[in-house]
Amino acid sequence: MLRIYEKAFLGEKIVSLEEAKLSIASSAVLYGLSVYTVLPIVHTKDGAAAFRLADHFDRLINSSRIIGIDTFEKNWTYEKFEKVLTDVVRANSLKENVFARITVHVDELVPGTRSRELSTTLSIFLYEAKPIVPQNGVRLMTSRWQRVSDRAIPPRAKVNGAYVNSVLAKQEAIDAGFDDALFLNVVGNISELSAANIFLVKDSVLITPDTASDILEGITRRTILEIAKEEEIKIEERSVQPSELTEADEAFASGTSSFVAHIKEIDGKIIGKGVLGPVTSMLQKKYFELLKGQSVASKKYLTNL
Ligand code: PMP
Repeated sequence: MLRIYEKAFLGEKIVSLEEAKLSIASSAVLYGLSVYTVLPIVHTKDGAAAFRLADHFDRLINSSRIIGIDTFEKNWTYEKFEKVLTDVVRANSLKENVFARITVHVDELVPGTRSRELSTTLSIFLYEAKPIVPQNGVRLMTSRWQRVSDRAIPPRAKVNGAYVNSVLAKQEAIDAGFDDALFLNVVGNISELSAANIFLVKDSVLITPDTASDILEGITRRTILEIAKEEEIKIEERSVQPSELTEADEAFASGTSSFVAHIKEIDGKIIGKGVLGPVTSMLQKKYFELLKGQSVASKKYLTNL
């Protein structure tokens, strides 16, 4: 069982997890009308710090805008957001790295299927930072579920209701004995995993589906691209066909809750040598250094809470 910390935030105040409840008549519960993010909180030598907090706030705002939730932006500033997260972190005595799940819920009661001018409330809770895919080689299956498209529910918006798409794919993969699903998009190109982005390495080029491939624009993905640029690795952000994965030298998943996890198999076929490859290993090492505050560049990414 995942450890969830006792002090949460809802309705403008710190409450116990037990008290953090939404009405059964709210749009959040009725339609999954909420947007969210998950971000890492790490222990550094200067105390607890959040990774790329401003980017997570911006993504929440963008997700809200795409869905048409307009009251979050009106009521929240980055400064207030940082303050309440700090309050939650301090209210719990953390002894480990955790993930913060921050959600903007439409808590208006029975307004019907619409999104504008409805009341919203923000919730935060913290839980232990356990990865959602194995860190010693992920076994993927190509999902028979298609990634939700930009014309259905834009995947670049992190909307709770849209996660039924991920649940279908992940459960199907688990039932078939795999670790996670590989989603193809509406035109049959590689999109992403159920809750992580994907990268391939072929002939020393780092390849990842572009932002028009029906992906969530992951903040870890962005970090990996920044590290790769710094390391002068050739990058291709483009449409990626499924057969390219079978042919890749290396492949890995990236995400807050996946970290940088190498993919060893797709549909039972071994990718490359089936082990952690040199490019993945280097990017993984640099990512962890950044995340843990051990790199000179960490200052740019970490906010002390
Ligand atoms: N794609 C999906 C569908 C996800 O749910 C996630 C996890 N948030 C990611 C990609 C990775 O995003 P991030 O690096 O911001 O965690």
